[in-house]
Amino acid sequence: MRDYYEVLGVDRNATQEEIKRAYRKLALQYHPDRNPGDKEAEARFKEIAEAYEVLSDPEKRRRYDRYGHAGVRGNGMPEGGPFEDLNDIFSAFHDIFGASGSVFEEVFGGGRRRTRREAHGRAGGDVHVKVQLTLEEIAEGTEKEVTVRKYVPCATCNGTGAEGGTAGYTTCPTCRGAGELRQVSRSIFGQFINIQTCPHCGGAGRILRNRCPDCGGSGRRMSEETIRVTIPPGALEGHYLTIRGAGHAGVKGGPPGDLIVEIEELPHEHFVREGLDIYYDLVISFPDAALGTEVEVPTLRGRARLQIDPGIQSGKILRMRGRGLPELNGPGRGDQFVRVHVWTPTELTDEERQILERLRHAPSFRPRLEEGRRSFFSRFKDAFR
Ligand SMILES: [Zn+2]
Ligand SMILES: [Zn+2]
Repeated sequence: MRDYYEVLGVDRNATQEEIKRAYRKLALQYHPDRNPGDKEAEARFKEIAEAYEVLSDPEKRRRYDRYGHAGVRGNGMPEGGPFEDLNDIFSAFHDIFGASGSVFEEVFGGGRRRTRREAHGRAGGDVHVKVQLTLEEIAEGTEKEVTVRKYVPCATCNGTGAEGGTAGYTTCPTCRGAGELRQVSRSIFGQFINIQTCPHCGGAGRILRNRCPDCGGSGRRMSEETIRVTIPPGALEGHYLTIRGAGHAGVKGGPPGDLIVEIEELPHEHFVREGLDIYYDLVISFPDAALGTEVEVPTLRGRARLQIDPGIQSGKILRMRGRGLPELNGPGRGDQFVRVHVWTPTELTDEERQILERLRHAPSFRPRLEEGRRSFFSRFKDAFR
């Protein structure tokens, strides 16, 4: 960050008048209306406004001289400087930009097009935050606490940006509070009334007498806040929840933005999700596959019993209806699919080996390929269709 004196090109002992003059000169040079679309000029314009904001205030200037940037940061000043955008700068320095008869009237007045709403306080931006959910939490819905850094209304000025709250405003002398100026002109076609947004107050009808010292006039400050978020069942990865009004506080009492909560799904130790369905791999022993059995499998709602019919083939997929995830805001519900794998022993005792040797050529143990193919390849395809 550059030295504020250097930014304005003034001496460290410069008088207030010299500082003001230097600022006016530079502000005119780098003004966005004179440099349309020039990002560098806009950055300079902000930089000089920030330098002037500090050096024009005797108390802030004293702190800056003593402690440098650290002396005027923190203390309610947002990280990006006191001005979020150009409108903040225009409204903060009406005494300069709106002074009637000055060259600024022409340059600043004509070029700014602001709506009434903006002038009364700009809306706060949205705050984005991610929450990580397990599949179980997605299935049931949950509540999460999220901590966000966001702008909150400045308590000192009640979010108005003015020292002493709304009392810090005074009716705009140029438009007498109307926010617009009417100009009557005559031509050969008749009389025209030209209505223009008041360049002095930007359409607000009132001007800031003194900026709130704690928020630099923006009416808000950065803070950390913990917010409880209720997440409905079925909110999946990539879904967003919008919590109206829980975003950044508006500028100068403008409406707050929204809090946008993005769902992230944590990987599950047992399950793979496919849409609303979940898949589980079950490994059973060779005798269990041949004789049939009943097993316990995990589901999203605790363990459940599952019947394994005698003669089940490896690769067969069993469906547990309604054990998947609920549809968000809907009646639907996915299934749980259980893919069966038959475990082949890798080490055998002498006795086990003898038993299997006896079975090796038994007629029932000869693979019937046609049947095996049909039972698992076609089912596999069906299940994934
Ligand atoms: Zn304030
Ligand atoms: Zn006005």
